[in-house]
Amino acid sequence: MKVPFFDLRVQTQKIKDQLLRAIEEVVDDTGFILGPRVEQFEKLMAEFCRTRLAVGVASGTDALHLALLASGVGPGDEVITPPFSFIATAEAISYIGARPVFVDVDEGTFNINADLIEEKITSKTKAILPVHLYGQPADMSKIRRIAEKHSLKIVEDCAQSIGAKINDQIVGSLGDAGCFSFFPTKNLGCFGDGGMVVTSSQEIYQKVKMLRSHGGINRDDYEILGFNSRLDVLQAVILELKLKYLDEWTQARRKHAADYNNLLKGLPLATPFELKGSYCVYNQYTIKSSERDRLMEYLRSNDIGCMVYYPKSIHLQKIYQNQGSLPVSEKIQNEVLSLPIYPELTRLQIETVAGAIRKFYQK
Ligand SMILES: *Cc1c(COP(=O)(O)O)cnc(C)c1O
Repeated sequence: MKVPFFDLRVQTQKIKDQLLRAIEEVVDDTGFILGPRVEQFEKLMAEFCRTRLAVGVASGTDALHLALLASGVGPGDEVITPPFSFIATAEAISYIGARPVFVDVDEGTFNINADLIEEKITSKTKAILPVHLYGQPADMSKIRRIAEKHSLKIVEDCAQSIGAKINDQIVGSLGDAGCFSFFPTKNLGCFGDGGMVVTSSQEIYQKVKMLRSHGGINRDDYEILGFNSRLDVLQAVILELKLKYLDEWTQARRKHAADYNNLLKGLPLATPFELKGSYCVYNQYTIKSSERDRLMEYLRSNDIGCMVYYPKSIHLQKIYQNQGSLPVSEKIQNEVLSLPIYPELTRLQIETVAGAIRKFYQK
């Protein structure tokens, strides 16, 4: 049996009629940029994230970039962030002319090790940009304490973690701004690129709204240097429809993760580690194996999709070298392997993946 790493077809087919109807309404209406449909989805996202406000933007990368700018990060500032993430996390900092200062991650959760943050704080540090990697919330209570003590802003990278909670506190609402991506492979994905900044700060909200539309306060007055970074109406209506199913899809991901955990018990590999009280949304289900490359090849030769996120930590990328060694990130980049986890996987497919892994270790 073939198990693709990711497959949107079943999910999309199930709601295709509704999707086409929503798209048709926009086609007939011809209002393609901003307006009430985008505002409606912004309102729903703010409600979902338990923040007061939300602004739709063109991508998750732009959400990070604009949220950092709106939080007051400027050229020459330093922003503390983990090196074990997608490159966009650090890129967003560099776009501003600020410098990402990498703090190594925790080997169990893959998230920034909050105990190592304070030693990297300098007089130039302006913000902390934690990533809730793979759908697992970072240790926000510690991060918030540190931010408060040193008067730092917090911008959360929630691209992989929509709906993730820790002790009933939802990600995106735990800092000054929360940044989401609607790239098709995220837990809530659109049919192209899209992103969102959620916040309860009126100031950040106003600033991001200006920044996404050329820095204007209205059609004729431009007060700051802005960008063209809006969430399309077509994407907003698709997302509004899909948001209704998100909880159901998240529960399916969590069920699959629990099934994998059970089926992989006793093998010489590490299954995902959840912090106490944490509600992980499993954008990825990532195991660690000291024989990762051989295991990956074995699974692929058995028609089972699997991927490495991320084979090269950001601090080792050409544009970000010279920040010294970060031993945990450097170690786990050689051990992590993500298995198929999308909601529509069947029990039989999960058993197939787990069975193949078991067979690999028996050889
Ligand atoms: C996907 C992702 C982004 C960027 O989102 P885009 O919408 O692709 O720009 C940023 N950070 C993380 C952790 C991501 O996974």
